[in-house]
Amino acid sequence: MSDAKYLIVGNSVAAIAAVDGIREVDADGSLTLIAREPHHTYSRPLITYLLGGRVDEEQMLYRPRDWYEKAKVNALLGTEVTAVHPDDHLVETADGRTIGYGRLLIAVGGTPIVPRDVEGTDAEGVFTFTTWDDARAIADYIEERGVRSAVIVGGGLIGLKSVEALIELGIETTVVELADRMLSATFDRTASELAQRRLADAGVGVLCDTTTTEILAQDGRVVAVRLTGGETLPCDLVIFAIGVLPSTSLVAGTDIRLDRGILVDDHMRTSAEDVYAAGDVAQATELIGGEKRCIAIFPNAYRQGAIAGRNMAGAERTWDGGLVMNSVTVVDRPTISVGVTEASGDGHEELIDLDEAAYRYRKIVLHGDRIVGAVFVGDIERAGIITGLIRERLDVSAIRDLLLTDEFGLISLPADYRSHVISGTGASR
Ligand SMILES: Cc1cc2nc3c(=O)[nH]c(=O)nc-3n(C[C@H](O)[C@H](O)[C@H](O)COP(=O)(O)OP(=O)(O)OC[C@H]3O[C@@H](n4cnc5c(N)ncnc54)[C@H](O)[C@@H]3O)c2cc1C
Repeated sequence: MSDAKYLIVGNSVAAIAAVDGIREVDADGSLTLIAREPHHTYSRPLITYLLGGRVDEEQMLYRPRDWYEKAKVNALLGTEVTAVHPDDHLVETADGRTIGYGRLLIAVGGTPIVPRDVEGTDAEGVFTFTTWDDARAIADYIEERGVRSAVIVGGGLIGLKSVEALIELGIETTVVELADRMLSATFDRTASELAQRRLADAGVGVLCDTTTTEILAQDGRVVAVRLTGGETLPCDLVIFAIGVLPSTSLVAGTDIRLDRGILVDDHMRTSAEDVYAAGDVAQATELIGGEKRCIAIFPNAYRQGAIAGRNMAGAERTWDGGLVMNSVTVVDRPTISVGVTEASGDGHEELIDLDEAAYRYRKIVLHGDRIVGAVFVGDIERAGIITGLIRERLDVSAIRDLLLTDEFGLISLPADYRSHVISGTGASR
């Protein structure tokens, strides 16, 4: 058994941020990082562009090749952790090793859902789309089999990210969505409808209120999907993009408290002594509402990882709450949603600027004198400033009539807030 003062399970954004955090406080403490995927740390959102051929493998890297060495990290890549034993301060790996730790961070992200009740999901040509290896396997399959048509099951964010790549590759694509509109968890109805129209204009099929009940295969290879109504849709490729669940199986059977994800306090500590969690696997306090939620986005994972790392090394950093934020490109047009996207009565109010023909939509959701959410479609220029105002919970009553005007910018904000942003404290949180 080899021991490490700090042990990190995971090699993505939360894990890397934790290394940064630890090294800020403790330059030399022994640090081991274990990851199931064999790759050098990479940026997961870029798998869309890897599949679409816009970036190459070198551009996928999240840190330079010599980063582990420089950060004094003993990286065990291609190694799966199968169990955590908090009472004994050790983990087990799939290749039969046990590794002891002083403090442990679990940053294992999420696992894509493949529905158990759909027949035929083991056919060749059926994929999920969350890893570098998924992108590579899909690209290989497309090339080897001369794929011309695809069905994406799920019209959420990862579904859209898959569509983006397939459009790039000239593959005829249909999205099958169980809800009555795409991106229903991310956008309000107007934004969803604009996105759907844009996809339709680009030749992408969108079928709502239905899903796939069976994968039909010939010679073991997918040839069509059957939909809820019994009709079939021919295709050479299927991607399941119906959601991702926090990968909590690692701590099953321990006393570590779970809900949807691993529950953490505002120091990113789990309920077990010396065990921390961060990123998509963690369920931490949300900024608006204060509930504990899993918010599976890159910036949250980074911020949580950095806080966990510093705290593991003995510093004192607290989490001020996660903000739900999604950005996706819909046929070359950027869209962003932040926080609350629909006013729900009780003191909420919406400011709207819509130009359907120009494919431009901006909405700000207010609660009393504060902004609690926003949607931007086609024009995301002020999204950063508005997000800052949400985070800072700034009283915007004096500037609310300006918020959606072309004149609105940093200059419209109170001088003390402007200097707060410019000095970095407001912008960095
Ligand atoms: C296609 C796609 C596009 C996305 N686009 C965006 C975007 O535009 N903006 C945005 O904010 N977010 C986006 N996201 C979400 C973002 O990528 C995640 O929020 C972020 O990667 C989470 O980081 P993480 O470190 O928590 O976990 P992950 O990135 O999921 O990494 C988990 C790590 O744990 C390792 N691991 C897992 N299980 C084990 C085990 N048992 N033993 C050892 N190692 C293990 C894995 O190998 C990996 O290194 C996207 C996600 C996908 C899939």
